[in-house]
Amino acid sequence: MKRIILILLSVLPLLALAKGKQDNRLIVITIDGLRWQEVFQGAEENIMTDSKQVRDVKRCRETYWRATPEERRETLMPFTWGTIAKKGLLVGNRNVNSIMQLANKTNISYPGYSEMMTGMVDDSIRSNDPVNNPHRNVLEAAGEDPRYKGSVVMYGSWKSTRFAIHNEQAGIPASVSYEPPIAKKQTPQLRLVERMMEGMPRYWQSEHFDAFTFAYALETLKNDHPKVMWISFGDCDEWAHARKYDLYLDAARETDAFIRDIYETLEADRFYKGKTTYLVTCDHGRGFGNEWGSHGSSTKGSEATWLMLFGKGIDAKGETKECGPFYTKQIAATIASILGIDFTPDDGATLLPIDH
Ligand SMILES: [Zn+2]
Repeated sequence: MKRIILILLSVLPLLALAKGKQDNRLIVITIDGLRWQEVFQGAEENIMTDSKQVRDVKRCRETYWRATPEERRETLMPFTWGTIAKKGLLVGNRNVNSIMQLANKTNISYPGYSEMMTGMVDDSIRSNDPVNNPHRNVLEAAGEDPRYKGSVVMYGSWKSTRFAIHNEQAGIPASVSYEPPIAKKQTPQLRLVERMMEGMPRYWQSEHFDAFTFAYALETLKNDHPKVMWISFGDCDEWAHARKYDLYLDAARETDAFIRDIYETLEADRFYKGKTTYLVTCDHGRGFGNEWGSHGSSTKGSEATWLMLFGKGIDAKGETKECGPFYTKQIAATIASILGIDFTPDDGATLLPIDH
């Protein structure tokens, strides 16, 4: 009997390993409507000097203008260019033929998030309304895997994001647009953030400021240790629609800083340290030049997207050149690959993960 137990003990860990080789943590961060132009070139001179679109041109110039695109992008997004570009990879700089784009033709948000998470395009999905997505998504598939069960959550600024993953049916706790946090451990810090949000003017009807999304997400990561989290930021898109370029740039800079804070907090926590992959992307691009505020099927260029990957399992390839076109719908396969799960989109097409 003792012998049998000994044999079992020595075999069991091997079985466990074979079944669930990867037991990863994954943080997916989306930045709604942040253009590849700002990510890869920094602030754009013609827009930042237009006093109709910038409150204080002098201050904006001092803060964001530098002589070269490399200096400008590093000034705008210092964590992206100081850390992500050194530890991971970036896709989407069209100046060096690194191409990523939407497969859906709407170039608006809900269809973009749907494409990203379900891994397919459904041409009947063409509005931003908060209606539940009929298709199965990769986060739902993760939650059905024993390794990640009960450990997949999301926070978003914009209301429709959680509907894009039909979170209630998918069993993914989610909080968006002025909803209370979904953390299991409700701490005084979370309550304070919630109280502050209640006390703020509802500047946008169906979207709260990203600072609250960030604070909810960070506290939940620290206290609950979910293995997979989708954090969906929205300020950039709102300020762009309002054609307030200085606030759009500020939002890009702050989101970059939020990502730094999340990364540094998690890499100082034994549950996440060295076990976490980070994926950062957007739901659509925007127009060129004067069209920078807009996006949609009739806005040229707004199909352009980008991707950053870093952390566990990601090679330090830096800024990729001469590659693609990659499609946003490949993000679902990329997430499945990082988590080591099987995922087939509802249309039955198997896509390749984006190179990592
Ligand atoms: Zn928009």
